Amino acid sequence: MSSIAENVKRLLAELPPGVELVAAAKARAPEEVLEAVEAGVAAVGENYLQEAVAAKAVVGARARWHFIGHLQTNKARKAVELFDMIETVDSLKLAKEIDKRAAEADKVMPVLIEVNSGREPQKFGVFPEDVPGLVRALVGLKHLRVEGLMTMGPFSADPEEVRPAFRETRLLFEELRRQEIPGSAVARLSMGMSDSYRTAVEEGATIVRIGTKLFGPRLS
Ligand SMILES: *Cc1c(COP(=O)(O)O)cnc(C)c1O
Repeated sequence: MSSIAENVKRLLAELPPGVELVAAAKARAPEEVLEAVEAGVAAVGENYLQEAVAAKAVVGARARWHFIGHLQTNKARKAVELFDMIETVDSLKLAKEIDKRAAEADKVMPVLIEVNSGREPQKFGVFPEDVPGLVRALVGLKHLRVEGLMTMGPFSADPEEVRPAFRETRLLFEELRRQEIPGSAVARLSMGMSDSYRTAVEEGATIVRIGTKLFGPRLS
């Protein structure tokens, strides 16, 4: 098996310019995250606040920190404190809480809207048709800045099964950019994981979130 550093270098060499690698670090030891960052990863994705605290204690400001898990409203203050971007905003209620906490911290929080592109009832995220309305509702929040969209897509090991969801999300992204909603700054499209990142890049991703292919299989 190749080392984390080798995996990072291979992936960075493969990704086209303009596509950012976010190392999805859930269930990894802080030392593993540090190895990825020292090999060139610029952004780390965390699903859990406690894991982010532990990894940040070791890695600190050598990386930017993206929150990629499901955020509960009562954790918004902590998330605003820990992260440089929250990729998973999926309701006006959560956005208002982030805005309020960012105001208290004297910060403007970059966020992405999580899109439930597969329209799966058990998944988090906003249905595609509801995204433009939510973006318009959010531009009034002065301590939060909508920078784009994130999606998981349907769960499948076959990237071709995920492609339609990526494509629909990209079309939505382009439509939002065309609308040039004042106060929004839509420029980032986060989609694709270890099994699907090549398809996601073909479909226009500007951020890929990769765990297994960098760190190896998750044991927990
Ligand atoms: C775990 C996770 C990833 C990475 O998944 P891999 O298949 O390990 O690459 C990406 N995005 C989110 C939101 C995740 O939770």
